[in-house]
Amino acid sequence: DELAELEARVSVCRACSRLVEWREDVAVGKRKSFADQPYWGRPIPGWGAAEPRILIVGLAPAANGGNRTGRVFTGDRSGDWLFASLHRVGLASQSTSEHAGDGLHLIGTRMIAAVRCAPPANKPTPEERDTCAPWYRRELELTLPSTRSIVCLGKFAYDALLVALLALGADVPRPRPKFGHAVEYRIATPYGEVTVLGCFHPSQQNTFTGKLTEQMTDAVLTRAKDLSTD
Ligand code: SF4
Repeated sequence: DELAELEARVSVCRACSRLVEWREDVAVGKRKSFADQPYWGRPIPGWGAAEPRILIVGLAPAANGGNRTGRVFTGDRSGDWLFASLHRVGLASQSTSEHAGDGLHLIGTRMIAAVRCAPPANKPTPEERDTCAPWYRRELELTLPSTRSIVCLGKFAYDALLVALLALGADVPRPRPKFGHAVEYRIATPYGEVTVLGCFHPSQQNTFTGKLTEQMTDAVLTRAKDLSTD
């Protein structure tokens, strides 16, 4: 099918020389605690339901998370937080996401990173974001027809989504609503109407400091789930 074809094509992309070098260096160097494990070290495709009702969008995979396991948000602390919440609200079959063969599946939900390769310091450049954008737009084109709600994890993911939706001809409000936790608004797209939701990124910077609590995460995901049955 078309999503599988997209996955196959994106997984061999080498368009950004800085990111190719970084993803491969990390995969060869390896963090000490993962020294005995194989690293994926390639672009991370979207993962989850083929006809999702809910999309969860991030910015880019983590060097020792997705870049190691080959599955988005899998094998790092942000993922631990996120999947525990997804499980509590009924969108994931189990509460942990450790490696691509752990049997976990998402329920009516798909996860996508706007930039598919792990960037140094978790920050892709605007040029890298734009170079990866056609992959993102294509995945949105294929999944928006079934999607009712989109959860953006962090401001960068939110901005990247709005840029992609605008390029796809969506009616993004002007001025663009500011990112915030639990902000919510509807956008008409050529593929149907979706509700965009903001969620603070589940990084340790936010979860350790209490800026993002479990209750706050659960509340946004529950809202996304409720909207998905409209
Ligand atoms: Fe290709 Fe995107 Fe990775 Fe750049 S970030 S190499 S465009 S998959």
